[in-house]
Order: sequence, then C-alpha cells, then structure tokens
Amino acid sequence: MVPFSALNALEYCPRRFYYEYVQAEMLVNALVLEGQLLHQRVDQPAVFAEKGVERIHRLYLASERLHIAGYLDALEEEAGKLVPVEYKRGREGRWLNDHIQLCAQALCLEEYLPHLAPLSHGYLFYFGSRRREQVLFLPELRQKTLESIQLALALAREPRPPAPLQGKTARRCRDCSLLPICLPEEVRALQEQQERGNATKSLLEIF
Ligand code: SF4
Repeated sequence: MVPFSALNALEYCPRRFYYEYVQAEMLVNALVLEGQLLHQRVDQPAVFAEKGVERIHRLYLASERLHIAGYLDALEEEAGKLVPVEYKRGREGRWLNDHIQLCAQALCLEEYLPHLAPLSHGYLFYFGSRRREQVLFLPELRQKTLESIQLALALAREPRPPAPLQGKTARRCRDCSLLPICLPEEVRALQEQQERGNATKSLLEIF
C-alpha cells in the first residue's frame, strides 16, 4: 500500500520518495520537528463540534483497489457535505504535493461513502499563514493523483533511487531535509564527469 504522505513526497521529488518510503531513510531537522510538534493536536483521535462544524480528527482510510492508505487529519461536515482537511507546517506551497495527498484521501472517502460521492472539495490548513486553502477535486487533479499512485508503485520496484532533481525543480533541494543523504550536487557533478569521460572515449574510438 502507498501511504498518502508518500504521494506528497513523490510529487515533491521522486528521489525523496524513494529514500523515505522504499529505503526508510529519514532525517529529523528543525523543520521536520516543527511539523511533528504542530501536528500533535490534530493527531489525537477525537470528535469535535466547534462553531457549528462537526469534525472528526485522525481517521484511518485505506483502499485495496487503489493501493493507498493512511490517516486523514480531519473530516468535517460543511452544509451537509463531507470535507477532508489536511494540516501542514509552513505556508502554501508552489507545487501540487499537498493537493495530491488530499485528493488521494478524498478518493478513499468516496470509496467508503459511494452514496455521498463525488466529493467536491477539501481544505489544506497551513500553520505558517493560518490560512485554509480550498482544493477542488477537479478531473485533472484526480487523474494526476491516480498517475502518482502508479508511479509510486513502479518506483518501489526499482533497485536504485531515481537521479536527483535537475533544472528549475532542483531549487526544491534547498528545503529538503534529505539533502545530507542525497548529496544532489555531488551526484550531479559525478554524472557530468562520467558523461564527459564517455564522450572522450567515443571520440578516441573513432581513431
Ligand atoms: S535533496 Fe533534492 S534531489 Fe535529493 S531528495 Fe531532496 S529534493 Fe530530491
């Protein structure tokens, strides 16, 4: 089964997904620890009723059909509709990793509650900005989430981690807690050295 959080890691970086969820490597830096501490309250199983909103915290979901499982931070009832909520450290991100995690949880919920499906939206709550972002479960996001699950299953069968991020996406490495294990700069330099070596060899083979 692919954990929901693994889909989040995969969208951020396939190499990160491999280290964390295939090789079980994890480094707890200050940011990771902050996230764990902020999560403590929402990680307590409980049922709340606040300002007219019913909320269940920490709900386990799994789908054999989709090969996904994990905990949903909260499920709310809003105007007669069920709405999944995921809590995150920091502020709204520039990539879709949190959206995909939430959408996978929604796909699971829909399987449990076919009479209420499809769910229209969920929320991402960011502790850093204290803001809730509404996420619409549009067909494009649903499709991307299903593709992400397939990619996770395929990568989990690979004997080695994928290459480090390249180009613009390599900016994500700066905020990645696995930087000391992954060593992306060093791996990229070695790859370039190897490619230069191969090019010289092919030139020499002409003679
Ligand atoms: S350091 Fe960069 S390439 Fe390595 S796992 Fe993190 S994001 Fe991916």
